[in-house]
Amino acid sequence: MSRATYAHKFVKAFPDNLEEGILYVSMEFGTAAHRCFCGCGSEVYTRFSPRDWSMKFNGESVSVSPSIGNWSFPCQSHYILDGGRVRWADKWSRERVELGRRVDRDRKERHYNSAPQAPLSPQTIEPASRPGIIARLVRWLAAK
Ligand SMILES: [Zn+2]
Repeated sequence: MSRATYAHKFVKAFPDNLEEGILYVSMEFGTAAHRCFCGCGSEVYTRFSPRDWSMKFNGESVSVSPSIGNWSFPCQSHYILDGGRVRWADKWSRERVELGRRVDRDRKERHYNSAPQAPLSPQTIEPASRPGIIARLVRWLAAK
């Protein structure tokens, strides 16, 4: 069964048996590992480098970008790990995979050449309710 959420674990080395639903992150190896979130059991390793994946830890959850496309597994699943949520993406055709890899490379090169960091895609932005809550809190503090 495909998952909607995942937890993360910072580890020195990956365990022999990866637990389902856990994204293991090893800073020593600069790599993350998990069992494919479609439930097929395949082990997925994502290496962090300017040319591969990058991760973001906000103190509560880990996000990985860009998306993870398991083209080499029979399931061909494709998803984005976004702050503890698995965002399922379309399966790609072989041509699209090739094109995606090329686009990805170009994007990474541009990205790498241009600081500051490019903004994340719109769906990773915090829910709109958040600023409202903060604004109310600020007003409440000001009223004290
Ligand atoms: Zn799978």
